[in-house]
Amino acid sequence: MLRCSTVVQRGWHARRLVRLVLLILACGPLDNGVAGAAEVAPSGDTEVAHDQLVLARAIDVDLPVREHVWFEAGSNDGLAYAFTLAEGHRIVVEVGEAFAGTLTLDYIGVDLDGTTTELESLEFDDGGHRAERSGRYLLHIDPEPDWSGSAPIEVRKAPSLTFPVRGKNAQAIQSFFGAPRERGRRSHHGVDIFAARGTETVAATAGFVAFVGVNRLGGNVVFLRDATYDYFYYYAHLQDASVSTGQWVEAGDPIGRVGTSGNARGGSPHLHFGIYRHGPIDPLPFVHDRVRSPVPVTAETTQLGELMRTKARTFARETPNEKARSVLTLERGAAARPIAIRGSWYRVRLPDGREGWVAPRRLQAVERPLSVFRTEVPIPLFVAPLESSTIATTLPAGTDVEVLARSGDAEWVRANTGETGWRLAPG
Ligand SMILES: [Zn+2]
Repeated sequence: MLRCSTVVQRGWHARRLVRLVLLILACGPLDNGVAGAAEVAPSGDTEVAHDQLVLARAIDVDLPVREHVWFEAGSNDGLAYAFTLAEGHRIVVEVGEAFAGTLTLDYIGVDLDGTTTELESLEFDDGGHRAERSGRYLLHIDPEPDWSGSAPIEVRKAPSLTFPVRGKNAQAIQSFFGAPRERGRRSHHGVDIFAARGTETVAATAGFVAFVGVNRLGGNVVFLRDATYDYFYYYAHLQDASVSTGQWVEAGDPIGRVGTSGNARGGSPHLHFGIYRHGPIDPLPFVHDRVRSPVPVTAETTQLGELMRTKARTFARETPNEKARSVLTLERGAAARPIAIRGSWYRVRLPDGREGWVAPRRLQAVERPLSVFRTEVPIPLFVAPLESSTIATTLPAGTDVEVLARSGDAEWVRANTGETGWRLAPG
């Protein structure tokens, strides 16, 4: 287990993280019952209801996100993140090598009425997953049932294609998809990547050269057919092409040189890069390599999984931000277990399962008693602060007891014999 944030950082850069292979789910349900609904459900209703439960539990995140997450053996909870991807994004997931478990990815399908959702399982490979649809996605991170511990997790978006102009990046894009052309009579069906005349353009991915020729708007143009996906890539305004029709190219192989042919004549040299499937598609997510870094984990990881309590009345937030909406009010001494860190914040889980974000400085270890008492009659201690929970032990009359934390009316107590448990509705 990684013990502190500096070690986490170092581990990250030293490539001590492994990239896990995600499962192909089309063959049936997972251990935890999450299924590729479209394939396996004989009648949609049960699966859809189940999917909605999974979705209700998922944490909405803006990518990129980095967390250090604690998993409890036998809890079967796992972790689920929901996020948005655009067609052409590649999602990359990295999990600390200590983690033992599976990662699975679903596309969240939305019905026309906008309410009913179904999860559709997707394939993952060690390069991540390339989104073929814009929309919401769900990533499950499920530890093996007997695995307990904590691990860094990073989920980020990356471009799915090689940048098509050698030596350039998305900063060189100066005209975007959908921009008006000819006073609004048509719109721009690609992106314009500016570079010095003669700069090499390269194959964005492996495929066949489908067409090399000349047209009125594009001038010297090349169409590349993706070897794997149903896309054509369009290179226009070339000074010249360096490929011929039918030729196989690998990602990064030369296609031609940047110029001003076609209707770019007289302007600045640039590559017009377009992507077509059934119609034109915005190329930006495919090539946008100017991706943000996630906020680093800076809070101490050693207290993850430990039962703690609030020092004073505290609001737990919806997101790790002091200005975020308050979702829980925790009175002084409220039991809260840090289960994840994002940035300098703890995501805490209460004994009743509710969760929220709390700054670590608002929590303290359950060491010094909040109050003490002596039992007058035998009292049962429960494993959870619920009537339905099982009894861990029964303290005989005359036992000295320390109250260490609270959850509603219940108290987390420690007897002078060392036994601990929940005392329900004392007094
Ligand atoms: Zn253009």
